[in-house]
Amino acid sequence: MMSQSKCVVCGRKITYRFTLCRICEKEYGKRKADWPPWLVYLAQEQWKTRKRQQRNPDRELPFSDFSSDFIENISHIDDKDKDRFM
Ligand SMILES: [Zn+2]
Repeated sequence: MMSQSKCVVCGRKITYRFTLCRICEKEYGKRKADWPPWLVYLAQEQWKTRKRQQRNPDRELPFSDFSSDFIENISHIDDKDKDRFM
């Protein structure tokens, strides 16, 4: 289970969805915009790690990462080109 995580500042155990523990949140604020650059960096690294953990470890880039929007965009471009050249 990944229901627990660590505060990126002090390493205290916290609920998974949070980045900071209560004490550090009081210190630095809830909003990312209020954080110093080093804290934003640490949080981003943690989010990246979490995202990697959520993926199937056997397939780093599953095909589902290419959304249907992406495929639709390709056919849309093709249609536009057809109109232009016919
Ligand atoms: Zn903390």
